[in-house]
Amino acid sequence: MVNVVIIGAGASGMVTAIVAARRGKKVLILEKNNKVGKKLLATGNGKCNISNQRPTLDRFYSHNLKFIAQVFEGYSYQSIKQFFKSIGLELIEGKEGKVFPMSLQALSVVELLACECEELGVEIRCNVTVQQIHKENNLYVIKHTQGKVSTPKVVIATGHISAPQLGGVIDGVRFAQHFGHNIIKDFPTLVQLTSPRKDLKELAGVKVESRVSLKQGNQAIQKQGDVLFTAYGISGLAILDISRFVMEQLIHSSTVTLELDLMPKMSSDQLIALMKKSLRKKSQKPLEVWLQGFINKKLIRPILEPLKLDKATVGSISSNTIQLESMVNQIKAFSFTVNGSRGYKGAEVATGGVDTREVDAKTMESKKEKGLYFTGEVLDVDGDRGGFNLHFAWVCGMQAGESV
Ligand SMILES: Cc1cc2nc3c(=O)[nH]c(=O)nc-3n(C[C@H](O)[C@H](O)[C@H](O)COP(=O)(O)OP(=O)(O)OC[C@H]3O[C@@H](n4cnc5c(N)ncnc54)[C@H](O)[C@@H]3O)c2cc1C
Repeated sequence: MVNVVIIGAGASGMVTAIVAARRGKKVLILEKNNKVGKKLLATGNGKCNISNQRPTLDRFYSHNLKFIAQVFEGYSYQSIKQFFKSIGLELIEGKEGKVFPMSLQALSVVELLACECEELGVEIRCNVTVQQIHKENNLYVIKHTQGKVSTPKVVIATGHISAPQLGGVIDGVRFAQHFGHNIIKDFPTLVQLTSPRKDLKELAGVKVESRVSLKQGNQAIQKQGDVLFTAYGISGLAILDISRFVMEQLIHSSTVTLELDLMPKMSSDQLIALMKKSLRKKSQKPLEVWLQGFINKKLIRPILEPLKLDKATVGSISSNTIQLESMVNQIKAFSFTVNGSRGYKGAEVATGGVDTREVDAKTMESKKEKGLYFTGEVLDVDGDRGGFNLHFAWVCGMQAGESV
């Protein structure tokens, strides 16, 4: 009989298997996809942002942040680096603490993990979907699409519902519920946002660096980076980064308004001074043509129309400082209403999952059911973009692998 069955050959499942097998355990992994690590292959646009050098608590979200702090005790970024070195994968450090495989290929992460499993004698069975788990005489009986298997220990490393096209399913949550676990409700995060605006088709295709702000109580959350206007709404790295906070607000409100600074590298005063230099009092040039000297053409009408300046000329604005200032204000605080997301198909991660108050942070074992373990995204933990989600998955895998 195998000592431990792991459900899911993804990030946390394969690390759990390797660490457990190195400790002499006989390990079986059941994977529903036709190959291992399908989601991993898509990470970091195929480059796999494998970890982050600074996995501070403020980069993670959960109903129980204490759990994350405890999981990370004794496991720094160096532990991850050492683990990957031990399977032959060198890591390189990039901007903002982001870490990548030296090959800059997610494929090498998957192949080296799979190869290490094979060398250690871990049995991986693909095209096997686990349907149900129950307990009989202190053993877990795992029913799957090709039969059943019994084991004293089972690790639920199924991930969560994000990216269903890559294998994201709710199964892990369902298994946890069967054993009486409380589930924290999920919503998609690191996701593109939809908008009810009528002019989306006109804006579609424009990509600008922006500072995106979202009001939260008396404060504003700000994220800076590329923003891409699309036919459904808005995307780009800054939008993915702020999406978690938007989605949280959308639980209580049907729309949320973002404020985009379309020229974040210049202050309002600098922009006004720059514009003033090219204003000519007698010019009959349409304002919307003149503005192309500063900003993408597709953004001009949405900037001028609310100010009723879409028919104005350069001459008319050059003698009206208030109009110039309000135009600059539109550029520096462009209002964009959103009403939802592209859903799990577009999301990198699902929030929510198994309530971490019911899981031992030092072993990943359920506090309700001995021999039942949870790792990775199935738990109510998610992180910022930047390698934090995989970082959590690897550490969970190491913890679970050691304790099973
Ligand atoms: C497009 C994209 C890009 C991303 N980029 C990054 C990045 O660069 N950096 C980062 O840190 N994070 C990134 N993430 C997030 C990261 O991939 C996940 O957080 C991480 O893979 C979760 O690991 P896991 O072990 O919990 O689950 P997964 O890696 O999702 O593995 C779970 C496995 O379980 C299998 N499974 C599920 N149910 C069953 C069942 N019933 N029976 C059998 N098998 C089952 C699934 O098929 C899957 O292979 C990205 C996600 C996506 C979608």
